[in-house]
Amino acid sequence: MKVLVINCGSSSLKYQLIDSQSEEVLAKGLCERIGIEGSSVTHQKAGEGKKTEAVLMKDHTDAVKVVIEKLTDPAEGVIASLKEIDAVGHRIVHGGEKFKGSVVIDDSVLEAIAECNDLAPLHNPANLIGIRSCQKVMPGVPMVAVFDTAFHQTMPGKAYLYGLPYEYYEKYKVRRYGFHGTSHDFVSKRVGELLGKDRKDLKIIVCHLGNGASVSAVDHGKSVDTSMGLTPLEGLMMGTRSGDMDPAIVGFIAEKENLTAAEVINICNKNSGVLGLSGISSDFRDLVEAAAAGNDHAQTTLEAYAYRVGKYIGAYAAAMNGVDAIVFTAGIGENNAQVRALISQYTGFLGCEIDLEKNKAAVGVEAVISTPESKVTALVVPTNEELAIARETVRLVNA
Ligand code: ADP
Repeated sequence: MKVLVINCGSSSLKYQLIDSQSEEVLAKGLCERIGIEGSSVTHQKAGEGKKTEAVLMKDHTDAVKVVIEKLTDPAEGVIASLKEIDAVGHRIVHGGEKFKGSVVIDDSVLEAIAECNDLAPLHNPANLIGIRSCQKVMPGVPMVAVFDTAFHQTMPGKAYLYGLPYEYYEKYKVRRYGFHGTSHDFVSKRVGELLGKDRKDLKIIVCHLGNGASVSAVDHGKSVDTSMGLTPLEGLMMGTRSGDMDPAIVGFIAEKENLTAAEVINICNKNSGVLGLSGISSDFRDLVEAAAAGNDHAQTTLEAYAYRVGKYIGAYAAAMNGVDAIVFTAGIGENNAQVRALISQYTGFLGCEIDLEKNKAAVGVEAVISTPESKVTALVVPTNEELAIARETVRLVNA
C-alpha cells in the first residue's frame, strides 16, 4: 500500500508518501505560509535533492492539491495518479480522553476531534482542516487519525491528576495528557526488538529530546507517566518552552511586566527554555558550539537542561520501581552526544553506565551506548513518527 502521511499546522502542511511494504519514503515535503503572502512548497523525491518553489496556496485545500500535483508530476513525482494513494494517515495532536488509540476517520470522529479543540486550540483546528482538505481532494480514500496523546491514555489517575480542585477535572478535563505518544510508542517497541525481548517484559524510560521534549515511563509496554501535561508546556526545559516552574510565576511576571496571563504563557512557550535562559539560541548545536568556545552561560544552560532530564529519569525509575533500559531519541537525543554525556552524570546510581566512546560514536543511528557490565541498557534509537503513522494507517485500513 502507498500511504500519504499528513501533519497539518495552522499555516503549514508536512507530507510523506510511504510504501508500506518496503517502508520506504517515496517522496516528502512541506507547504509553508499557507494563506499568507509568500507561500511555498519544498518537495523531495527519494534519492534527489530538495526543491523549493513559490506557489500560491490560499488555503489548505490548495496545499493538498499542490501536494498531489508534486506527487504525480512526471519529473518530480513518484506516482502516476491520485488513484495510487491507498490511504491517508493524519497526525492529530490532542485526542483528549476520547481516543485511546488510532481510528478510521468518519463524521463522528471529526466531531469528537473538534470537541478536543479547546485542549489544543493551536493544533487541533489545523489538524481538522487538514483532514477536511484531504477529503475534498481525495474523496473516498480511507483516512486514519493517529493521536499524540493516545499512547499515554494508559497513565493511572495518580499520574494524570493535578493537585487541583477535582471539579476542574470534572468540568473541563484539566488533567495531564502527555504528547509525542507516537514516538514514545515506536521507540519503546524498537528497544524491545533490539534487546531481543518483548516490550511487555521491560521497564523502559524514553527520552524524546527534540525541539519539544518529553520523557516517558513505559512499564511492560504501557505508558504509566510522561513529563508533558495538559499542554506540551510541562516537564523538561525545551528549545523555547520553560517546562516545569512555579505556577505563581505567571501572575508575578504578569504584574511586573504589565502583561496578561495569556501573554506570559506565550513567553513561556516561545521565548523561554534554552533560548530564553542562554539568550543564544534554541538550537543545541549553537549552544554546544558557544559552550566549547568558552561561553559559561551556554555551558550552564546545557547543564540545567541535562539536570532536568536526569531528574525525570530518576523519578521514572522510582515510578516503575526499576528500569531496564533508558533510550534517547529525536533531534538532540539521536545526535547530540555532549548532551547525552551530561545526562549520564545522573544515571550511575541506577546502575546505568554509559560508555563515553560508544556514546560519542552514536550519531543518528541505532546503538547501545552503555557498557557491557551496565545493569541498565542505554540506547540511541532514531524515532520515525511518520512511519509509525503509516503503520497504524495500514493496520486499521486492513482491519
Ligand atoms: P522537532 O521537535 O522540531 O521535530 P527535532 O527533533 O528536529 O525537533 O530536534 C531539534 C534539535 O535537535 C535542535 O536543537 C538541534 O540542535 C538538534 N539536532 C537536530 N539534528 C542534529 C544533528 N544532526 N546534530 C546535532 N544536533 C541536531
